[in-house]
Amino acid sequence: LDARLAISNPDDELGHLGQAFNLTLGRLEGSFDQLRRFTADASHELRTPLTAIRSVGEVALQKTGDGPYYRDIIGSMLEEVNRLTRLVESLLTISRADAGQIDLHQAPVNALELVQEAATLLESLAEEKQQNVVVEGNPSITLWGDRLILRQAVINLLDNAVKYSPVGGSIRVDVCFDVDTVAIEIQDSGPGISVEHREKVFERFYRVDEARTRAEGGTGLGLSIVKWAVLVNAGSIDLVSEPGEGCTFTIRIPASKTHTLPHKSS
Ligand code: ADP
Repeated sequence: LDARLAISNPDDELGHLGQAFNLTLGRLEGSFDQLRRFTADASHELRTPLTAIRSVGEVALQKTGDGPYYRDIIGSMLEEVNRLTRLVESLLTISRADAGQIDLHQAPVNALELVQEAATLLESLAEEKQQNVVVEGNPSITLWGDRLILRQAVINLLDNAVKYSPVGGSIRVDVCFDVDTVAIEIQDSGPGISVEHREKVFERFYRVDEARTRAEGGTGLGLSIVKWAVLVNAGSIDLVSEPGEGCTFTIRIPASKTHTLPHKSS
């Protein structure tokens, strides 16, 4: 959308004002572009040294043998390296999205398979916390969207569900039709999100509880990426929550028309 003013007479006062406005707007856009490029470049440059630090740390961890002191120190360092890596990856995604550099590859996607794939990636994390993760739904529901982007959205939601649910907690994922959309519902047994935070949690770097999020290794970017991923696929996201009773996040994505029309019986 071009917000530049159309100037009918560049020599009168209104014309001067319009020109000054357009000039300022141009400079502002230039600065935003520079900022976006800087974020993208910086994130990209940080990837390589982080990978190197992680490799060295992993070797060091193997060599410490039974020395619990060093094992703990190196273990903590690796956790922070992993957190930084997630942060850098998220920043890269966001700066690419802001710059409109992400090509959408929309196609029919089996929704239950997508969710099961994401759940498999988080299996070991949930097992560590002895959580029960149940994935249910109709196996033939097909949505229309970009598979990788939506997979990332479901991973982020499930990751939060695991992170914020207690040890022994339960997580339920349900895939169903909702009018002409596919609804993916993720319900957890964590602390929930009270009403004053409900909109804000989708903002970048917003955290309800800074200390808790840090302890869980969060980056504060997960839900903003989910929101972008859903919107760019013409979908929506809802959050229903009562404090103390967990959260239910529901994303709705257009159903794939080619695969969801009922078969004619005749
Ligand atoms: P983070 O990496 O910090 O989890 P997110 O953008 O994914 O970042 O979430 C933003 C904040 O919303 C979190 O810091 C947390 O306070 C809150 N939050 C997100 N998901 C949940 C959830 N399932 N249960 C409770 N709080 C949540």
